[in-house]
Amino acid sequence: MGIIDDLVVNNRTYSAKIAESHLPVEPSSHLAIVTCMDSRLDVFAALGLGDGEAHVLRNAGGVITDDVIRSLALSQRKLGTREVMLIHHDDCGMQTITDDGFRNELRESTGVAPAFAIESFVDVEVDVRQSILRVRRSDFLPYREAVRGFVYDVDTHALREVVVAEETVGGVA
Ligand SMILES: [Zn+2]
Repeated sequence: MGIIDDLVVNNRTYSAKIAESHLPVEPSSHLAIVTCMDSRLDVFAALGLGDGEAHVLRNAGGVITDDVIRSLALSQRKLGTREVMLIHHDDCGMQTITDDGFRNELRESTGVAPAFAIESFVDVEVDVRQSILRVRRSDFLPYREAVRGFVYDVDTHALREVVVAEETVGGVA
């Protein structure tokens, strides 16, 4: 029996003890969060959020990819979110690889190099700043001013904010 079978059993217990309710599809905080898939970051617990309060978009690294922009465009234009919170974290797996190294690994094992960017990074704060700028420079997003970036310490569970120098915010990409 795999872990998924265990989780299905857990869900039976969970759903049985919580009263049925229906929340609006629009997040009540009007917030979208983009963060890493890291299993040590419980986003709702770490930020004091509850069900129905925020969109959470996750991928390896919490990178602002075209697909994240797709989701943010839907989040803002169809589901009422107005602010974007970016959360990277210390000790990220994306800091343990290189783009070329992982690309070569994929090509050697499959015969095909991927079309997507790997998006590894060395300095987490540099990557947060780049992510903030990618959001601010996307024409698909109508609400680009209220975007803030943070690094989550997976040991202390504390956030620290990363700011972008104002002269780069309106700069030409
Ligand atoms: Zn990570």
